[in-house]
Amino acid sequence: MADFESVDFLRERHVRFFQRCLYVLPERYAPYETSRLTIAFFSLSGLDVLGALDVVDRHSLIEWIYSLQILPTADQSNLQRCGFRGSSHIGVPYSSSKGPGAPHPYDSGHVTMTYTGLACLLILGDDLGRVDRAACVSGLRALQLEDGSFYAVPEGSENDMRFVYCAACICFMLDDWSGMDRQKTIDYIRRSTSFDFGIGQGAGLESHGGSTFCAVASLCMMGKLREVFSERELGRLRRWCVLRQQNGFQGRPNKPVDTCYSFWVGATLQLLDVFQYTNFEKNRNYILSTQDRLVGGFAKWPDSHPDPLHTYFGICGLSLMGEAGLQPVHAALNISLRASDSLRRLHECWRRSRT
Ligand SMILES: [Zn+2]
Repeated sequence: MADFESVDFLRERHVRFFQRCLYVLPERYAPYETSRLTIAFFSLSGLDVLGALDVVDRHSLIEWIYSLQILPTADQSNLQRCGFRGSSHIGVPYSSSKGPGAPHPYDSGHVTMTYTGLACLLILGDDLGRVDRAACVSGLRALQLEDGSFYAVPEGSENDMRFVYCAACICFMLDDWSGMDRQKTIDYIRRSTSFDFGIGQGAGLESHGGSTFCAVASLCMMGKLREVFSERELGRLRRWCVLRQQNGFQGRPNKPVDTCYSFWVGATLQLLDVFQYTNFEKNRNYILSTQDRLVGGFAKWPDSHPDPLHTYFGICGLSLMGEAGLQPVHAALNISLRASDSLRRLHECWRRSRT
Protein backbone atom coordinates (compact mmCIF):
# COMPACT_ATOMS: atom_id res chain seq x y z
CA MET A 1 0.00 0.00 0.00
CA ALA A 2 2.89 2.37 0.73
CA ASP A 3 3.99 2.10 -2.92
CA PHE A 4 0.48 2.80 -4.10
CA GLU A 5 0.45 6.10 -2.22
CA SER A 6 3.96 7.22 -3.07
CA VAL A 7 3.77 7.41 -6.89
CA ASP A 8 2.59 10.88 -7.70
CA PHE A 9 0.58 12.08 -10.64
CA LEU A 10 2.28 15.15 -12.15
CA ARG A 11 -0.82 17.12 -13.11
CA GLU A 12 0.89 20.43 -13.99
CA ARG A 13 3.36 18.72 -16.35
CA HIS A 14 0.50 17.04 -18.22
CA VAL A 15 -1.32 20.36 -18.56
CA ARG A 16 1.80 21.84 -20.18
CA PHE A 17 2.24 18.72 -22.36
CA PHE A 18 -1.24 19.20 -23.85
CA GLN A 19 -0.68 22.94 -24.30
CA ARG A 20 2.38 22.12 -26.40
CA CYS A 21 0.37 19.55 -28.42
CA LEU A 22 -2.17 22.26 -29.23
CA TYR A 23 0.18 25.08 -30.10
CA VAL A 24 3.74 23.87 -30.90
CA LEU A 25 3.86 20.32 -32.26
CA PRO A 26 7.37 19.13 -33.09
CA GLU A 27 8.29 18.40 -36.71
CA ARG A 28 7.97 14.63 -36.30
CA TYR A 29 4.18 15.14 -36.12
CA ALA A 30 4.06 16.56 -39.68
CA PRO A 31 2.68 13.28 -41.18
CA TYR A 32 -0.32 13.59 -38.83
CA GLU A 33 -1.35 16.97 -40.26
CA THR A 34 -4.35 15.46 -42.08
CA SER A 35 -5.73 14.21 -38.76
CA ARG A 36 -4.77 17.20 -36.66
CA LEU A 37 -8.28 17.43 -35.20
CA THR A 38 -7.72 14.13 -33.36
CA ILE A 39 -4.61 15.56 -31.69
CA ALA A 40 -6.68 18.60 -30.71
CA PHE A 41 -9.29 16.22 -29.27
CA PHE A 42 -6.77 14.31 -27.13
CA SER A 43 -5.40 17.63 -25.88
CA LEU A 44 -8.69 19.41 -25.21
CA SER A 45 -10.46 16.44 -23.70
CA GLY A 46 -7.30 15.72 -21.68
CA LEU A 47 -7.22 19.28 -20.35
CA ASP A 48 -10.94 18.96 -19.56
CA VAL A 49 -10.38 15.77 -17.53
CA LEU A 50 -7.45 17.53 -15.81
CA GLY A 51 -9.81 20.42 -14.97
CA ALA A 52 -7.50 22.83 -16.83
CA LEU A 53 -9.48 24.08 -19.84
CA ASP A 54 -8.89 27.65 -18.64
CA VAL A 55 -5.40 27.54 -20.23
CA VAL A 56 -6.77 27.55 -23.81
CA ASP A 57 -8.32 30.31 -25.89
CA ARG A 58 -11.76 28.76 -26.38
CA HIS A 59 -12.98 31.31 -28.89
CA SER A 60 -10.16 30.89 -31.42
CA LEU A 61 -10.26 27.08 -31.12
CA ILE A 62 -14.03 27.02 -31.74
CA GLU A 63 -13.56 29.22 -34.82
CA TRP A 64 -10.75 26.94 -36.08
CA ILE A 65 -12.92 23.82 -35.66
CA TYR A 66 -15.84 25.40 -37.50
CA SER A 67 -13.47 26.31 -40.34
CA LEU A 68 -12.95 22.54 -40.81
CA GLN A 69 -16.64 21.86 -41.39
CA ILE A 70 -17.56 20.83 -44.95
CA LEU A 71 -20.79 22.65 -45.64
CA PRO A 72 -23.23 21.92 -48.47
CA THR A 73 -22.43 23.87 -51.61
CA ALA A 74 -25.12 26.17 -53.08
CA ASP A 75 -26.38 23.33 -55.35
CA GLN A 76 -26.18 20.75 -52.49
CA SER A 77 -24.24 18.39 -54.79
CA ASN A 78 -21.69 17.52 -52.07
CA LEU A 79 -24.16 16.42 -49.34
CA GLN A 80 -22.63 12.93 -49.23
CA ARG A 81 -19.20 14.47 -48.59
CA CYS A 82 -20.19 16.64 -45.61
CA GLY A 83 -18.75 16.38 -42.09
CA PHE A 84 -15.43 17.70 -40.79
CA ARG A 85 -11.93 17.51 -42.30
CA GLY A 86 -8.87 17.03 -40.09
CA SER A 87 -7.03 20.28 -40.88
CA SER A 88 -6.74 23.04 -43.47
CA HIS A 89 -4.20 21.01 -45.53
CA ILE A 90 -6.36 20.93 -48.67
CA GLY A 91 -6.37 24.71 -48.93
CA VAL A 92 -10.07 25.54 -49.24
CA PRO A 93 -10.85 29.14 -48.28
CA TYR A 94 -11.12 29.69 -44.52
CA SER A 95 -14.74 30.04 -43.52
CA SER A 96 -16.45 29.52 -40.20
CA SER A 97 -19.82 30.88 -41.28
CA LYS A 98 -22.84 28.66 -41.87
CA GLY A 99 -22.28 28.29 -45.60
CA PRO A 100 -22.68 27.61 -48.41
CA GLY A 101 -19.47 25.61 -48.73
CA ALA A 102 -16.86 26.10 -51.42
CA PRO A 103 -16.85 23.32 -54.05
CA HIS A 104 -13.57 21.36 -54.21
CA PRO A 105 -13.16 18.00 -55.98
CA TYR A 106 -11.05 16.38 -53.24
CA ASP A 107 -12.69 17.90 -50.18
CA SER A 108 -14.68 15.57 -47.94
CA GLY A 109 -15.33 14.80 -44.30
CA HIS A 110 -13.64 11.94 -42.44
CA VAL A 111 -15.75 10.02 -39.93
CA THR A 112 -13.11 10.29 -37.16
CA MET A 113 -12.69 14.03 -37.75
CA THR A 114 -16.45 14.59 -37.65
CA TYR A 115 -16.61 12.68 -34.36
CA THR A 116 -13.65 14.45 -32.75
CA GLY A 117 -14.68 17.84 -34.19
CA LEU A 118 -18.14 17.62 -32.61
CA ALA A 119 -16.64 16.34 -29.35
CA CYS A 120 -14.13 19.24 -29.23
CA LEU A 121 -16.91 21.79 -29.78
CA LEU A 122 -18.89 20.29 -26.88
CA ILE A 123 -15.83 20.23 -24.62
CA LEU A 124 -15.21 23.91 -25.41
CA GLY A 125 -18.77 24.77 -24.35
CA ASP A 126 -20.12 25.43 -27.85
CA ASP A 127 -23.84 24.72 -28.46
CA LEU A 128 -23.24 23.17 -31.94
CA GLY A 129 -25.40 26.01 -33.26
CA ARG A 130 -23.31 26.42 -36.42
CA VAL A 131 -23.08 22.68 -37.15
CA ASP A 132 -25.12 21.70 -40.21
CA ARG A 133 -26.51 18.62 -38.48
CA ALA A 134 -28.54 17.41 -41.47
CA ALA A 135 -25.45 17.62 -43.71
CA CYS A 136 -23.31 15.70 -41.17
CA VAL A 137 -25.98 12.98 -41.07
CA SER A 138 -26.11 12.82 -44.91
CA GLY A 139 -22.32 12.53 -45.04
CA LEU A 140 -22.40 9.75 -42.45
CA ARG A 141 -25.14 7.77 -44.17
CA ALA A 142 -23.05 7.69 -47.35
CA LEU A 143 -20.22 5.94 -45.46
CA GLN A 144 -22.10 2.82 -44.33
CA LEU A 145 -21.47 -0.42 -46.23
CA GLU A 146 -23.94 -3.22 -46.92
CA ASP A 147 -22.32 -5.33 -44.15
CA GLY A 148 -23.11 -2.61 -41.55
CA SER A 149 -19.56 -1.29 -41.12
CA PHE A 150 -18.38 2.19 -42.12
CA TYR A 151 -15.76 3.68 -44.39
CA ALA A 152 -13.83 6.70 -43.03
CA VAL A 153 -14.17 8.76 -46.23
CA PRO A 154 -16.67 8.68 -49.14
CA GLU A 155 -14.11 7.52 -51.73
CA GLY A 156 -13.57 4.34 -49.67
CA SER A 157 -10.97 3.25 -47.11
CA GLU A 158 -10.54 0.53 -44.54
CA ASN A 159 -13.87 -0.33 -42.93
CA ASP A 160 -13.99 -1.75 -39.44
CA MET A 161 -15.16 -1.39 -35.83
CA ARG A 162 -13.20 1.83 -35.25
CA PHE A 163 -15.34 3.68 -37.77
CA VAL A 164 -18.51 2.00 -36.45
CA TYR A 165 -17.66 3.62 -33.10
CA CYS A 166 -17.01 7.05 -34.65
CA ALA A 167 -20.36 6.78 -36.48
CA ALA A 168 -22.18 5.86 -33.25
CA CYS A 169 -20.61 8.84 -31.45
CA ILE A 170 -21.76 11.19 -34.23
CA CYS A 171 -25.34 9.84 -34.12
CA PHE A 172 -25.36 10.01 -30.32
CA MET A 173 -24.02 13.58 -30.19
CA LEU A 174 -26.39 14.81 -32.92
CA ASP A 175 -29.28 12.91 -31.28
CA ASP A 176 -30.13 11.58 -34.72
CA TRP A 177 -29.64 7.92 -35.72
CA SER A 178 -30.93 8.33 -39.27
CA GLY A 179 -27.31 8.37 -40.51
CA MET A 180 -26.91 4.70 -39.52
CA ASP A 181 -28.86 1.53 -40.30
CA ARG A 182 -28.65 0.30 -36.71
CA GLN A 183 -29.81 -3.24 -37.45
CA LYS A 184 -27.01 -3.69 -40.01
CA THR A 185 -24.50 -2.29 -37.52
CA ILE A 186 -25.73 -4.61 -34.79
CA ASP A 187 -25.43 -7.57 -37.18
CA TYR A 188 -21.86 -6.48 -38.00
CA ILE A 189 -20.97 -6.35 -34.30
CA ARG A 190 -22.49 -9.78 -33.69
CA ARG A 191 -20.58 -11.27 -36.62
CA SER A 192 -17.35 -9.76 -35.25
CA THR A 193 -17.67 -11.64 -31.95
CA SER A 194 -14.89 -14.20 -31.92
CA PHE A 195 -14.64 -17.83 -30.71
CA ASP A 196 -13.07 -16.59 -27.45
CA PHE A 197 -16.00 -14.17 -26.86
CA GLY A 198 -13.96 -10.98 -27.33
CA ILE A 199 -14.77 -8.78 -30.35
CA GLY A 200 -12.56 -8.18 -33.40
CA GLN A 201 -12.43 -5.40 -36.01
CA GLY A 202 -14.64 -7.52 -38.27
CA ALA A 203 -15.93 -11.06 -38.82
CA GLY A 204 -13.24 -13.74 -38.44
CA LEU A 205 -10.64 -11.32 -37.03
CA GLU A 206 -8.79 -11.67 -33.74
CA SER A 207 -10.45 -10.33 -30.58
CA HIS A 208 -8.91 -7.03 -29.58
CA GLY A 209 -9.35 -4.65 -26.63
CA GLY A 210 -9.79 -1.63 -28.92
CA SER A 211 -12.45 -3.17 -31.16
CA THR A 212 -14.19 -4.70 -28.14
CA PHE A 213 -14.48 -1.21 -26.62
CA CYS A 214 -15.73 0.24 -29.93
CA ALA A 215 -18.43 -2.44 -30.23
CA VAL A 216 -19.61 -2.37 -26.61
CA ALA A 217 -19.60 1.45 -26.39
CA SER A 218 -21.52 1.72 -29.69
CA LEU A 219 -24.19 -0.67 -28.41
CA CYS A 220 -24.40 1.28 -25.13
CA MET A 221 -24.92 4.55 -27.01
CA MET A 222 -27.68 2.85 -29.03
CA GLY A 223 -29.18 1.57 -25.74
CA LYS A 224 -29.03 -1.96 -27.17
CA LEU A 225 -26.25 -3.76 -25.27
CA ARG A 226 -28.57 -5.98 -23.26
CA GLU A 227 -30.84 -6.64 -26.23
CA VAL A 228 -28.00 -7.78 -28.47
CA PHE A 229 -26.07 -9.95 -26.01
CA SER A 230 -27.61 -12.46 -23.59
CA GLU A 231 -26.55 -12.41 -19.93
CA ARG A 232 -24.47 -15.52 -20.62
CA GLU A 233 -22.70 -13.85 -23.56
CA LEU A 234 -22.07 -10.73 -21.48
CA GLY A 235 -20.53 -12.92 -18.77
CA ARG A 236 -18.12 -14.42 -21.31
CA LEU A 237 -17.27 -10.99 -22.65
CA ARG A 238 -16.57 -9.78 -19.10
CA ARG A 239 -14.28 -12.75 -18.60
CA TRP A 240 -12.32 -12.02 -21.81
CA CYS A 241 -11.86 -8.39 -20.69
CA VAL A 242 -10.96 -9.19 -17.06
CA LEU A 243 -8.28 -11.63 -18.27
CA ARG A 244 -6.57 -8.77 -20.14
CA GLN A 245 -5.29 -7.37 -16.84
CA GLN A 246 -1.67 -8.32 -16.13
CA ASN A 247 -0.56 -5.35 -14.05
CA GLY A 248 -1.92 -2.77 -16.52
CA PHE A 249 -4.01 -4.09 -19.40
CA GLN A 250 -3.00 -5.77 -22.67
CA GLY A 251 -5.03 -5.45 -25.90
CA ARG A 252 -4.82 -9.14 -26.82
CA PRO A 253 -3.72 -12.39 -25.13
CA ASN A 254 0.07 -12.84 -25.02
CA LYS A 255 0.78 -9.20 -25.88
CA PRO A 256 2.60 -6.72 -23.62
CA VAL A 257 0.50 -4.35 -21.52
CA ASP A 258 0.09 -0.83 -22.88
CA THR A 259 -1.20 2.33 -21.17
CA CYS A 260 -4.06 2.96 -23.61
CA TYR A 261 -5.74 -0.37 -22.78
CA SER A 262 -6.24 0.83 -19.22
CA PHE A 263 -8.90 2.94 -20.89
CA TRP A 264 -10.08 0.69 -23.78
CA VAL A 265 -10.49 -2.39 -21.60
CA GLY A 266 -11.13 -0.49 -18.35
CA ALA A 267 -13.97 1.53 -19.90
CA THR A 268 -15.44 -1.64 -21.44
CA LEU A 269 -15.40 -3.31 -18.02
CA GLN A 270 -17.08 -0.24 -16.55
CA LEU A 271 -19.79 -0.40 -19.23
CA LEU A 272 -20.19 -4.10 -18.35
CA ASP A 273 -20.50 -3.15 -14.63
CA VAL A 274 -17.48 -5.12 -13.37
CA PHE A 275 -14.56 -2.66 -13.51
CA GLN A 276 -14.61 -2.41 -9.70
CA TYR A 277 -13.45 -6.04 -9.45
CA THR A 278 -10.14 -5.34 -11.21
CA ASN A 279 -6.90 -4.56 -9.37
CA PHE A 280 -6.72 -0.76 -9.22
CA GLU A 281 -3.37 -0.66 -7.45
CA LYS A 282 -1.55 -2.65 -10.14
CA ASN A 283 -3.30 -0.78 -12.93
CA ARG A 284 -2.47 2.63 -11.42
CA ASN A 285 1.14 1.68 -10.80
CA TYR A 286 1.55 0.52 -14.40
CA ILE A 287 0.03 3.71 -15.86
CA LEU A 288 2.22 5.87 -13.64
CA SER A 289 5.32 3.87 -14.63
CA THR A 290 4.81 5.22 -18.17
CA GLN A 291 4.53 8.85 -16.99
CA ASP A 292 7.27 11.11 -18.31
CA ARG A 293 8.43 12.91 -15.19
CA LEU A 294 10.39 15.53 -17.11
CA VAL A 295 8.24 16.77 -20.01
CA GLY A 296 4.89 15.37 -18.87
CA GLY A 297 2.65 12.99 -20.81
CA PHE A 298 2.36 9.21 -20.82
CA ALA A 299 3.86 6.62 -23.17
CA LYS A 300 2.60 3.14 -24.02
CA TRP A 301 5.52 1.56 -22.15
CA PRO A 302 7.92 2.70 -19.41
CA ASP A 303 10.97 4.60 -20.74
CA SER A 304 9.31 5.30 -24.11
CA HIS A 305 8.40 8.67 -25.63
CA PRO A 306 5.08 10.14 -24.46
CA ASP A 307 2.51 10.96 -27.16
CA PRO A 308 -0.89 12.72 -27.12
CA LEU A 309 -2.94 9.50 -27.52
CA HIS A 310 -1.33 7.59 -24.66
CA THR A 311 -1.28 10.69 -22.48
CA TYR A 312 -5.00 11.13 -22.95
CA PHE A 313 -5.89 7.49 -22.41
CA GLY A 314 -3.51 7.17 -19.47
CA ILE A 315 -5.29 10.06 -17.77
CA CYS A 316 -8.72 8.64 -18.65
CA GLY A 317 -7.59 5.24 -17.33
CA LEU A 318 -6.70 6.91 -14.02
CA SER A 319 -9.98 8.83 -14.01
CA LEU A 320 -11.95 5.56 -14.30
CA MET A 321 -10.32 4.54 -11.00
CA GLY A 322 -11.29 7.84 -9.35
CA GLU A 323 -7.82 9.43 -9.27
CA ALA A 324 -7.94 12.57 -7.11
CA GLY A 325 -8.18 15.84 -9.03
CA LEU A 326 -9.45 14.27 -12.27
CA GLN A 327 -12.91 14.81 -13.74
CA PRO A 328 -14.96 11.62 -14.19
CA VAL A 329 -15.35 10.46 -17.81
CA HIS A 330 -18.34 9.15 -19.75
CA ALA A 331 -17.05 5.65 -20.49
CA ALA A 332 -18.94 5.17 -23.79
CA LEU A 333 -18.61 8.63 -25.37
CA ASN A 334 -15.07 9.13 -24.05
CA ILE A 335 -15.47 12.75 -22.91
CA SER A 336 -15.80 14.21 -19.41
CA LEU A 337 -19.11 13.77 -17.61
CA ARG A 338 -19.22 17.57 -17.46
CA ALA A 339 -19.16 17.75 -21.28
CA SER A 340 -21.67 14.90 -21.63
CA ASP A 341 -24.00 16.69 -19.17
CA SER A 342 -23.95 19.78 -21.35
CA LEU A 343 -24.73 17.54 -24.34
CA ARG A 344 -27.74 16.15 -22.48
CA ARG A 345 -29.02 19.68 -21.81
CA LEU A 346 -28.51 20.52 -25.49
CA HIS A 347 -30.55 17.47 -26.51
CA GLU A 348 -33.39 18.49 -24.18
CA CYS A 349 -33.34 21.90 -25.82
CA TRP A 350 -33.41 20.43 -29.37
CA ARG A 351 -36.23 18.05 -28.44
CA ARG A 352 -38.32 20.89 -26.99
CA SER A 353 -37.89 22.93 -30.15
CA ARG A 354 -38.92 19.94 -32.32
CA THR A 355 -42.25 19.51 -30.52
ZN1 LIG B 1 -1.51 1.89 -27.00
